[in-house]
Amino acid sequence: MPDLGELFPPLIGIGGVGDRPPRVLRGDLQPALAKLGDIRPGQLLLATDFDGTLAPITAEPNTASALPENLAIIDRLIDYGVHVAVISGRAQHDLRQRIPIAGSRLLGDNGIGGPTPEERRALNRFNSKAGRMIARQPGVWLESKPGSTSVHYRGAPDAGPDLRIAVLPIANRFGLVSTVGRMVIEVSPRRADKGRALLVLIAGLEPKAVIYAGDDEPDHSAFATLSRLPTPHLSVGVSSTERPAKSFGNCDLVVDGPDGMSAFLRALSERMARFGVEDPLAPD
Ligand SMILES: [Mg+2]
Repeated sequence: MPDLGELFPPLIGIGGVGDRPPRVLRGDLQPALAKLGDIRPGQLLLATDFDGTLAPITAEPNTASALPENLAIIDRLIDYGVHVAVISGRAQHDLRQRIPIAGSRLLGDNGIGGPTPEERRALNRFNSKAGRMIARQPGVWLESKPGSTSVHYRGAPDAGPDLRIAVLPIANRFGLVSTVGRMVIEVSPRRADKGRALLVLIAGLEPKAVIYAGDDEPDHSAFATLSRLPTPHLSVGVSSTERPAKSFGNCDLVVDGPDGMSAFLRALSERMARFGVEDPLAPD
């Protein structure tokens, strides 16, 4: 891993100076981080979405990759001892390819650990019926994943309203849940929920403070889970032209896209740096 200091010269004016666009659109980084209290890296869980949060959205989901800065800082945070988890609707193997960081916890398929045979059958039936329906719609395509299905319409943005009217009842009919994201409809078994995935992580790790960051509708269940935690927590909304800052009314911070996420991660990393790199042999 290259030296972070070389990769990222000091940011001047995280809030926006001169012609540099602001990266933090609402809230202030340092007071927000202070909300977590005086926790050590090993006591902190950082959970984050992938697409639109660590990685810019691309027309073809297959070409998306996390900003190198974000991967580098996550790697460093894990060195410090922070628990880092990525919760995504992408398939597990897909997510692993995009986040090749030892020690990161990856929860593909939103952490459901593979569908039950009954859930898989429901998804197959949905895929068959919805697939036939959209087959002749240019710019619309169906991505069948191990634990869920995405109906993408980034190639035909105006198709959204009609598509929702057509697709949601089909999902409902097969007992599946639809979530409308950024130019995509995510169709999944009822238990595939980022809030639930976050709760499972918390139950296993018992962190003393939790951060969650996300950019889209499916992330709101995680924000809701976070808001109910008795432990200190911090919610980071990642805005875009499709989900402006006002979409993240309950978040402590709103940053501007994956670049804004870099600014947040960097501030977090600087805060954790004072504890140094964790000695894996040291007692807790
Ligand atoms: Mg996302």
